[in-house]
Amino acid sequence: MKPIKQTLLLSLLLFSFTAYGKLTYKWLGISGFVLSDEKTTLVFDPAMTRVGLLDFLPFRTVKTDEDEVDYWLSRCGVKSIDAVFVNHAHTDHVIDAPYVARKFKAKLYGSSSVINVGLGQGLNNDQLQEVSDGEQWKVGAFTITAYLTPHSPHVLGITLMDGDITSPLKAPSSAWNYRAGDTYSYHITHPEGDLLFQAISRVDEEDTLKDLKADTLLLTIANRASSENLIKRFKTTGAKTVIPLHYDNFFKKMKREGEIDLFWGVDMEEFKASTSEKAAEVKIVWPGYCEGVGI
Ligand SMILES: [Zn+2]
Repeated sequence: MKPIKQTLLLSLLLFSFTAYGKLTYKWLGISGFVLSDEKTTLVFDPAMTRVGLLDFLPFRTVKTDEDEVDYWLSRCGVKSIDAVFVNHAHTDHVIDAPYVARKFKAKLYGSSSVINVGLGQGLNNDQLQEVSDGEQWKVGAFTITAYLTPHSPHVLGITLMDGDITSPLKAPSSAWNYRAGDTYSYHITHPEGDLLFQAISRVDEEDTLKDLKADTLLLTIANRASSENLIKRFKTTGAKTVIPLHYDNFFKKMKREGEIDLFWGVDMEEFKASTSEKAAEVKIVWPGYCEGVGI
């Protein structure tokens, strides 16, 4: 047998015996993303259904736009999903999670509020896993640990739709019923690379994420206290790569072509300038929706 054929055969054999392949990240908009190692696929914060400002008017209700979700998952090449993790129960993080979990027979992980969103849409207890601070799960070759990171206030120290969802929430429902509940960040370890998905845009010297290391930092940047404050997390994790999240305009439908709509006041240019000045050694990556990034 020619050496090239032997090598090919050997890699095929090895792949079928190993529990994973290449690790790839794909953005689903806001802080949603797909993480796959070719054998196991995780989805975080699926919210491709956008809730517009007018949807917050009295008597308006919201629910998953199944066609929109199907379009984006298919565009991202998603064929299977093993687990769905949600950081908190506001619509821009949770709205599509029950549909995605049901469609792919995946387990949905999140706070008691997220669990109530799942229950309200017909998921049963076997498909739901409530998370708590420091708790850890293995899914394929991934190990995921949840860390409690309280939601940052939206304006003047106030968090809108604060509190918990205390009973199963049916859909459609008013967007105001999607109360935040507890907010969790997720540390994801894998033989191919470790990631930290920081759900909030603030760094406190003594917060629960302070001792975690990661090669790749997935970082919420909307509503940040300052870019300098976020750069502290670059340092504590020792991340070589940072992928910013939550900077597109979540009140608008995801654009299928052309430039992404930026969230009002997110000031990307300032973030880019500060990070290149104060953390030049870190690579900042800005993938488009569904554009694969190797981890
Ligand atoms: Zn929120």
